[in-house]
Amino acid sequence: MAVVDEKKCLACGKPIRGRIDKKFCDDYCRNNYNNLQKAKGSHSSFVRNINNSLLKNRKILEAILQGDETAKASRDKLQGLGFNFKYFTHLYTTKADKTYFYIYDYGYLPLEHDWYLVVKKKEE
Ligand SMILES: [Zn+2]
Repeated sequence: MAVVDEKKCLACGKPIRGRIDKKFCDDYCRNNYNNLQKAKGSHSSFVRNINNSLLKNRKILEAILQGDETAKASRDKLQGLGFNFKYFTHLYTTKADKTYFYIYDYGYLPLEHDWYLVVKKKEE
């Protein structure tokens, strides 16, 4: 008995019969699939750009701390190094109602006059 290699449409998953190089049932499925791929592409570069900004921010905080537990930096200094205040991973609000902005394990607390206290999360 000959085994028929049943191919499936890349868009809807239904079996397709016909030419061996056919990948879609029809143009409708082909368009759907191509649009999805395009959307995926732009999505992943969006994600990649944010991840890059986060990692850059983390590097900058790490460089400012130079192994110390805390350090102060001005907004100008941070921005001069390419720090992007738009991106952080989470917030931490203390009992005293101070909100730290964290980028993974490094964080900062906005102080007065555009200064920032840079901190590193203690190992637990
Ligand atoms: Zn299809």
